[in-house]
Amino acid sequence: MDYKNLEKQDKEVFVAIQKEEERQKNELELIASENYVSSAVMEAMASVLTNKYSEGYPGKRYYGGNALIDDVEELAIKRAKKLFQAEHVNVQALSGSPANAAVYFAFLRPGDKVLGLKLDHGGHLSHGHPVNFSGMLYDFVQYEVDPETGFIDMDKVAEIARKEKPKMIVAGFSAYSREIEWERFKEIADEVGAYTFADIAHTAGLIAGKQMKNPVPIFDVVSTTTHKTLRGPRGAMIMCKEKFSKQVDRAVFPGMQGGPHDHITAAKAVAFGEALQDDFVEYAKQVILNAQELSKCLIEKGYQIVSGGTDNHLVVVDLSDKNIGGKDAEVLLEKVGISVSRSTIPNDLKPPMNPSGIRLGTPALTSRGMKEKEIKKLADLIDRALNNDNIDIIKKEVREICKEFLLPIN
Ligand SMILES: *Cc1c(COP(=O)(O)O)cnc(C)c1O
Repeated sequence: MDYKNLEKQDKEVFVAIQKEEERQKNELELIASENYVSSAVMEAMASVLTNKYSEGYPGKRYYGGNALIDDVEELAIKRAKKLFQAEHVNVQALSGSPANAAVYFAFLRPGDKVLGLKLDHGGHLSHGHPVNFSGMLYDFVQYEVDPETGFIDMDKVAEIARKEKPKMIVAGFSAYSREIEWERFKEIADEVGAYTFADIAHTAGLIAGKQMKNPVPIFDVVSTTTHKTLRGPRGAMIMCKEKFSKQVDRAVFPGMQGGPHDHITAAKAVAFGEALQDDFVEYAKQVILNAQELSKCLIEKGYQIVSGGTDNHLVVVDLSDKNIGGKDAEVLLEKVGISVSRSTIPNDLKPPMNPSGIRLGTPALTSRGMKEKEIKKLADLIDRALNNDNIDIIKKEVREICKEFLLPIN
């Protein structure tokens, strides 16, 4: 990227950004929630739209001069509707957690009971963890994955739902590798009179790319980030049935937020435009093929994979039978230029700061054009690093792969 004005005006920030760009170029990014946006998305984000205030919605703003902002927001909405077959879309949510806050705000009152997946089983902080607003404001009860299979036990979900009678059931997760039985969740929710809320922050790009089942036509309300597999700017959106459109929009503004970030809305529109192209289907397919190859190669090398494999972009490696914890593995891999995140495994006996697993994801590497051949090599490098093979040699091999597969920016 070209930062000529920044370089002239503010050396300190310029240097930090430039070094970060180098880091991103020279490292293999396996953090499952990260990705690389296109230059077009980046240009929209860096546009003059950041100067505008536009509280309200298209055609109903509290500031003048918003005709073109209305066009941009309507484009983003139109494209999102097409991507996910949504009846109604709010593209103003600033990020995943605030989007979830708005969803709860739209459908619940403080103290209401909500059923969500336990965090160490793959859920998200905003699905009822006690340190998060969600756990403080609402009465969350939690379901788990089956300790034997690592899959969500839907009969158990039904049993807990019948007993607890929650007002809302949340599905959609941060560290769960398997397809989700959206219809079954809906059946259970209908039986007990609960709202259905899907948080597809991680898998939205795979759903948009038609490789995973879409909950949007089934569920009452769906939130997603736009910056993970969907490969857009850092942000979020909320999709819902038309009958809930007013309460959702009012929860976002004026309920939770002030002015929307119009430059980000423009970048969302650009990213959704990219995701509507045929090659995004190929991208989503390859993300999953790469994750499955990674899982297969690691199993061959003697690693335990939670649930025994993956249907999506992520692989949770259970290191509890190895001589290394999740945190140390993360630090060691960072030394050779492989970025991963520590992760809890279901029923983890270790604390979240140093859990028993690592979570690997393939969206970013796939955006660089890597395929099974590179993934196989990568599994080898990970295994060698975790077995304390020569760090300098591994680092050099990582650099060589990075040189061949450039970031999608210019
Ligand atoms: C990443 C994630 C979020 C939070 O998104 P932020 O933009 O980081 O606030 C919410 N829910 C799930 C399931 C996620 O994976």
